[in-house]
Amino acid sequence: MDNDSNDGASGIGDLHQLDASNQHKAKLATVLNDNGALLSREKLVTAREDTAHMRENAAGLREEAAQLREGTATSREQEIRAAETIQSASDDQMIKLQQANAHLVVATIEAHKLAEQIEATKVQLDHLAHHDVLTGLPNRTLLQDRLSQAIEAACRQGRQLAVMYMDLDQFKHINDSLGHAVGDKLLQSVAQRLMDCARHSDTISRQGGDEFMALLPYIENAQGAALCARKMLAALALPHRIDQHELHISVSIGISIYPDDGRNAETQIKNADTAMYHAKESGRNNYKFFKQDMNDRAVQRQSIEVSLRRALERQEFVLHYQPKINLKSSAIIGVEALIRWQHPEQGLLLPEQFISIAEDCGLILPIGRWVLREACFHARSWQQAGLPPIIVAANISALEFRNKDFLNNILEVLEETGLEPRYLELELTESILMQDAGSTDSMLHALADLGIKLAIDDFGTGYSSLSYLRKFPINTLKIDQSFVNNMCSNPDDAAIVSAVINMGKSLKLCVIAEGIESSEQAAFLLVQHCDEGQGNYFGSPMEAGALATLLQVSVTLIPN
Ligand code: C2E
Ligand code: MG
Ligand code: MG
Repeated sequence: MDNDSNDGASGIGDLHQLDASNQHKAKLATVLNDNGALLSREKLVTAREDTAHMRENAAGLREEAAQLREGTATSREQEIRAAETIQSASDDQMIKLQQANAHLVVATIEAHKLAEQIEATKVQLDHLAHHDVLTGLPNRTLLQDRLSQAIEAACRQGRQLAVMYMDLDQFKHINDSLGHAVGDKLLQSVAQRLMDCARHSDTISRQGGDEFMALLPYIENAQGAALCARKMLAALALPHRIDQHELHISVSIGISIYPDDGRNAETQIKNADTAMYHAKESGRNNYKFFKQDMNDRAVQRQSIEVSLRRALERQEFVLHYQPKINLKSSAIIGVEALIRWQHPEQGLLLPEQFISIAEDCGLILPIGRWVLREACFHARSWQQAGLPPIIVAANISALEFRNKDFLNNILEVLEETGLEPRYLELELTESILMQDAGSTDSMLHALADLGIKLAIDDFGTGYSSLSYLRKFPINTLKIDQSFVNNMCSNPDDAAIVSAVINMGKSLKLCVIAEGIESSEQAAFLLVQHCDEGQGNYFGSPMEAGALATLLQVSVTLIPN
């Protein structure tokens, strides 16, 4: 701008100069105009620049403003967001709190349920601990508990009470022959009938197996207990219908009375048990009151067990032989080996006085092995002495038959003694055969394959399945002596004997009757076509020497 005013002052005083100056002016004007234009262009530029600047500024300001606005917005947003975050956090907290609350309620309900379940389980466990699962009756523990309490009460009030020990007769036969499922149902049926005979204040318990007990806490006198025992015997005498079976079972009952027979629960139970054994020994299906001298028998049983353990080493056992006769020819076709015990103090004991004790304590295994060896040894020595070969029969207990070494023992004995298997016969009871048919079948076939003879002893007293009789490789049926005893006076027994003979014949089995004591019985059996007989009528069990003499005589009397 300053340069433009100096140029204009230097050309104004001269015409030419005026012209020139006019020209110049014009030029100037042009220039001025031009300059003006220039100026205005500059200005425009400047203004533009300014505007641009302003714009820039404005933009900057706007930006700043925007930024400011933004900033403000951001902080507000942040505030809102923060508030929202706080809100949502507190919402979350609230939800969580509500959920936790709900969980707490559920957990409390579940805890209650659990507590109830625990309580119910406790009650169940308590019930299980004090009751028998099969029959639902109180068990041994609960009975003992109630008995102790009842004794205390009876003692305070000067009263009597009765304990009855009950054991089913021959239950094992049913269980073994018809199976545990039937046995279990029979026990339930028995339990129900015993309960039906009891008063509300009495306790009937199952002690285990086929043993029950009754506690009668309120009795006037011993006769009150006898009355209850008779009621129970009568109730059990009616047949039990189990599945397709009609089962008969009886019970032997022993009774002990407080305070006469014991002052505490243990003695009361022990004495009732002892009395029960006496009821069994005197024919079963009855009751016996405890008497002090019964304990002497129990002590004797205990002492037998102790001396039985030494009897084998001391060689106190001896075998007696009872002849078996062909009823048609009267020839001796075999003998049955029957064990006796030459007891150092008590004299000669019969099997019924010690075999069950030997079975109970497992000693029957070594005793059975001894019997087999001794019987085979004698049979072989009679043959070696030139006597006619006969079959020697040995009685086998269930425990021996089920023993895993049984077959090996027999093989060893036969090899040791040199007796041919066809001269050995094993007498087995129905209960042994009907127990576990599968393993029985394979064992019987193994024995039969060796050539050993197999007989069913005491036939008719147990429960035999006729299909098994056909399936098992049995050679002989031995009709139990209880039928033979009465067959000449009791038509029922005669019918049974005749039926067994006929059935044996049709199954191609040899039939032998045991316990023949009279010529009348022998004659009846011959008429019925019974093959063989055994009994005191033909010869009582005798020592090996006496049997050898008899064999010698019969060779001369009845040539084979
Ligand atoms: P069981 O096998 O039925 O033997 C027949 C029983 O009847 C024998 O009794 C025998 O002496 C007896 N007896 C024979 N004839 C007559 C008679 O005319 N009238 C009467 N009333 N009885 C007669 P024992 O010798 O007392 O044997 C009884 C049971 O003991 C045997 O019955 C048998 O089951 C068992 N037993 C005998 N010896 C052994 C043995 O070595 N081992 C095993 N496990 N048991 C044996
Ligand atoms: Mg026998
Ligand atoms: Mg017999």
